[in-house]
Amino acid sequence: MQTKILLDEDAIPKAWYNIQADLPSPLDPPLHPGTGKPVVPGDLAPIFPMELIRQEMSTQRSIPIPDEVRDILRLWRPSPLYRARRLEQHLKTPARIYFKWEGVSPPGSHKPNTAIPQAYYNMKAGVERLATETGAGQWGSSLAFATALFDMECTVYMVRSSYDQKPYRKSMMQVYGAECIPSPSPRTAAGSKVLAEHPDTPGSLGIAISEAVEDAAGRSDTNYALGSVLNHVCLHQTVIGLEAREQLAMVDEYPDTVIGCVGGGSNFAGIAFPFAGDKITGKHPETEILGVEPTACPTMTKGLYAYDYGDVAGLTPLMRMFTLGHDFVPPAIHAGGLRYHGVSPLVAKLIHDGVVGASSYHQNEVFEAAVTFARTEGIIVAPESAHAVKAAIDAALECRRTGEERVILFNNSGHGNFDFSSYEAYFAGRLIDYEYPADLIRESLSHLPKVG
Ligand SMILES: *Cc1c(COP(=O)(O)O)cnc(C)c1O
Repeated sequence: MQTKILLDEDAIPKAWYNIQADLPSPLDPPLHPGTGKPVVPGDLAPIFPMELIRQEMSTQRSIPIPDEVRDILRLWRPSPLYRARRLEQHLKTPARIYFKWEGVSPPGSHKPNTAIPQAYYNMKAGVERLATETGAGQWGSSLAFATALFDMECTVYMVRSSYDQKPYRKSMMQVYGAECIPSPSPRTAAGSKVLAEHPDTPGSLGIAISEAVEDAAGRSDTNYALGSVLNHVCLHQTVIGLEAREQLAMVDEYPDTVIGCVGGGSNFAGIAFPFAGDKITGKHPETEILGVEPTACPTMTKGLYAYDYGDVAGLTPLMRMFTLGHDFVPPAIHAGGLRYHGVSPLVAKLIHDGVVGASSYHQNEVFEAAVTFARTEGIIVAPESAHAVKAAIDAALECRRTGEERVILFNNSGHGNFDFSSYEAYFAGRLIDYEYPADLIRESLSHLPKVG
C-alpha cells in the first residue's frame, strides 16, 4: 500500500487541457469596459502577449506545453500525490483520501504552474517587465521567481492587509529580484483615489489589480500578468489534475469527490477541470466536484451570476462570473488569497451548469482542520488550502456516517510556512468568524455595470 504516488519527470504533461473544448455551450464573451462590445484580441494586446490572448480565446482541447516551460517545471513537477492514511485513521472513515501536493514548488504553491508560462510567452514577445498584484503574496513570489529565471523585471502591488500580515513574502520577492509595493499606493491614479477616500483601507485584490493594470498600460516595456481567474491561467493549472488522474490510475483509483479551495478559482480549475471534462463527456458522469470558499467572501455561494469588472476601477474587461460586486472589500481574513470579489468565468459557468458545486466555511473551523491535518499528515498548509482540507474532512466524516467507501481527492495548494502569524492568531482565539456581510454585498451589487 503506497503513501506517496510519484511519476517520472517524463510524465509531466506535454499539453494543457482546455475545458472550453468540452463545454456544452460556449462561454459568454468578455466585454470591453468602454464600449460594452465583445473584446477582440487587439483590445488586450497593450497588456498581454498574443500567445496568451490566443490561449484565452481558444477552444482547442489540447494546447502543447513548450519544451522550455516543461524544462523549468521539472524543478518540482510532477508533484507527489499522497494517500492521507493517518488522517483517514484519525477520522475513522471508510473513505480513501488522496491529496495532490503543490507546496513542493520553490515559492510553495501551485501558482508557478502559470507564472512560468506567462513569463515565458512575455519574454518571447520581447517584454522586459511585468506588473502584477498579489493577495497573500503567493502569486507575487511566484511571478518574481518566474521573471528571475527569464531575466525580466517585476513589480508587485501587494494587498495592504497581507503586506502587514506576511512580511516574509515581501522578502522572498526581493530575493528573486522583484519590487513589492503595498496597495493601495500613491504610485497610481487608482491607488491614490482609494487612499484619498479610505486612508485606512486593508486593500483588496480588486484595488491592486487596478494599480497593476494601470502601471502596465502606461509603459511600453511592461505587460500585466494575472495569477488567477482568466481562462489561460486555469488552462496552465490543469497539469495538476492531469498528473493526479495518472497517479490515481497507477493505484487503480478514480475519485468520487474532487475538492479545491477557490479564490479566483485557478488551483480548483487545475485539479478539477480534467475530471469535469470526464464528467461532461459522460466518461464519469457521477463525480462530485466541489469548490470551497470563505464565508466572509462568499462569491460562489452568495454572489450573482452577472457581468462585472475584474477590478475596482473598472479597467478590466467585463466578465460574466459569480460576483459580490467589483467594489466589495472583504474583511481582512487570514486566507488572503481567497479575498476576491469574483471567480473565474469558466468555474462560474460550470457552477451555473450544475457540473460543479460550492460551499463555504468560517476561519476558525478551517484552522481547526489545518491543525488536525498537521498533527496527522505533518504538512502545515496555507490558510487557503485549509479550506479544501476542511471540506475533505467533512466529506470523509459523511462517509463514516453512511459507511460509503468514497475516493476523495483534494488539491493541497500550498504550504503555510509564511503564515504562522495566522496560526498564532487562531491559537490565541483572535480569529473572527465574520458573518456573511449582507449589507456590504447588497451595496456593492447595486453598483454592477449595466450590460446589453
Ligand atoms: C493564491 C492561492 C489560492 C487561491 O487562488 P486560486 O486562484 O483560487 O487558486 C489558494 N491556495 C494558495 C496556496 C494560494 O497561494
